[in-house]
This record gives sequence, C-alpha cells and structure tokens, in this order.
Amino acid sequence: MLAGGTDLTVGLRHHLIAPKVVIDLKRINDIAAGIEITDGSLRISAKTTMAKLVRNALVQHHFPALVEAADVVGSPQIRNRATLIGNICNASPAADTVPVLCVYGASVIVYGKGGEREVAVVDFIQGNRKIDLQRGELVVAVKLPIPKTAYGAAFDRVTRRRGVDLATVNLCCGIGPSGRAVLALGAVSPRPLLLEDADGAFSNIDAAAAERMAGLDGLVGQAAPISDVRASADYRRAMLKVLAERTLAHAQDRLQEWGQNV
Ligand SMILES: Cc1cc2nc3c(=O)[nH]c(=O)nc-3n(C[C@H](O)[C@H](O)[C@H](O)COP(=O)(O)OP(=O)(O)OC[C@H]3O[C@@H](n4cnc5c(N)ncnc54)[C@H](O)[C@@H]3O)c2cc1C
Repeated sequence: MLAGGTDLTVGLRHHLIAPKVVIDLKRINDIAAGIEITDGSLRISAKTTMAKLVRNALVQHHFPALVEAADVVGSPQIRNRATLIGNICNASPAADTVPVLCVYGASVIVYGKGGEREVAVVDFIQGNRKIDLQRGELVVAVKLPIPKTAYGAAFDRVTRRRGVDLATVNLCCGIGPSGRAVLALGAVSPRPLLLEDADGAFSNIDAAAAERMAGLDGLVGQAAPISDVRASADYRRAMLKVLAERTLAHAQDRLQEWGQNV
C-alpha cells in the first residue's frame, strides 16, 4: 500500500522491501477522503495528510495534541505527502502521532474481505514494524472519540537537532476530570507504552513537590529504553521525566481552559 510514500519509497530504495505490486491508495475512489464527525467520533480518512490534519478546525478544537505531533513530522514537504495512517501502519517506535492517538483512545478501521473491524491503535501496533493487519486488509480510517467531559492533552518530543529529525523520545500526557494522568511514551520500546498514574501521585497539583517527583519517577521508571545511535538509555530516561513534567503542565492548562469554554 502506498499512501504518501514517505516511508515506503525509503524501503524500496534501500531494497528493504520488494513488492510485486504497489497500490496507490490515493487512486482508490471508494476510500472516502476528508475529516468528519460521525457518531460522536472524529473519522480521519486514510488519504488525510499531516498538513491537512494540522489545518483542520475540528482537529485543532478537539485534539490539539494531535496537531502538535503532526506538525513536527519531517518538513513541510514531508507533511504535504505523509498521511496519519501511514505513520500508524509503518509502526516505527519513534512515530510521533502514535503516542497521542493512544492517549486519545483512537482506533483504526480495517477493511477486508470480511467487512470492517475496529482495533484500538495501542493494540494494532504489535511491535517494531509489526501491525495487526492480515493479507487482503487495509486501513481506511482512524477514529477518535470526542471527549464528552473536560479533557486536556499535550505532546512533546526531544530530537538530536532542530529541524528534520526523528524523535529520541516522545511523549503525550492526557488528563481528565479525575485528575489522574495517562502517559504514552514513544521511542522507548518496540510498542507504544501506555502508563496510567493510577494513584494520582504524579498528577496531583496539590501534592508536595517531592511526592509528585516520586510519583513521576515511579511512572516513567516503568520504561526500559535502549541505547542506540540516537541516545543512551540514561539520556532517554532523563528526558522522559522532563517531557512528562512539561506535557503534564500543558495538559492541565488545557483541562482548565476546556472547563472555561463549556
Ligand atoms: C525526511 C523524513 C522525515 C521524517 N520525519 C518524521 C518525523 O519527524 N516523525 C515521524 O513520526 N515520522 C517521520 N517520517 C516518517 C514518515 O514521514 C511518516 O511515518 C509518515 O506519516 C508515513 O506516511 P505515508 O503516507 O508517507 O506512508 P507510506 O510511506 O505510504 O506507507 C508507510 C507504510 O504504511 C503502509 N500503509 C500506508 N497506508 C496504509 C493503509 N491505509 N492501510 C494499510 N497499510 C498502509 C504502507 O504499505 C507502508 O508499509 C519522516 C520521513 C522522512 C522521509
């Protein structure tokens, strides 16, 4: 399947894949294009590029953290080609939109001979470059449930250099009215790592700083990143804490703004 081709053509050029047939999804008229609200969810077509996503008013309003992630993918040229669903299906551990989709509880709509099935993004990605897709199936859309109650989420990442680079670590933090945060971590394990601050020790704004830091240590300490060309495991662990604190503060601001708008 070729959507924007920004990952696929790299694989073809490096002879990592040698398909007999390449199907350009953009030419399949039965795949509806666009972004629309259906049954309380935002449905984003497999044809939607990062550039279109970032400019869409519905996405900006309901899912600001997704805009933050899509807006750092590659360069303007890449974002004009790269699709959201290509980013999911490529299943790179460093994919920027995937942690955000996991926090927002997004699912993919898979179409095949047997009809449609819906799979949560967190389950759809099974490992490094491994997805829950059978022969004869393709992903036609991604569905994001629109939060019914106040919700705040924020995304951030660390890269080796400014400009075009893949994430050394990336992270999305979401927080609902219960005040308990959910974190999704990228580039620290083959699959996205979804962690919940179940006892609220990290996300309780009224708690003493030491208690919050201990909660944060306990939470991101569950990640076991590796050392590779982009960073050492120690650096990744240190940066996860920075990103978690930063995105939590941003998500809490958004949670409060949401309350003011309703
Ligand atoms: C210079 C450069 C910079 C980049 N920077 C970033 C970055 O900062 N952050 C980041 O996350 N990524 C980055 N990427 C990776 C890439 O741009 C993204 O992963 C992009 O979203 C992939 O989308 P695409 O439409 O181009 O996918 P394609 O290359 O068309 O497809 C990717 C894979 O998904 C499969 N696929 C696509 N659509 C479907 C479908 N509907 N159903 C089933 N399978 C499908 C394809 O068969 C292929 O295996 C970068 C790439 C380049 C070349």
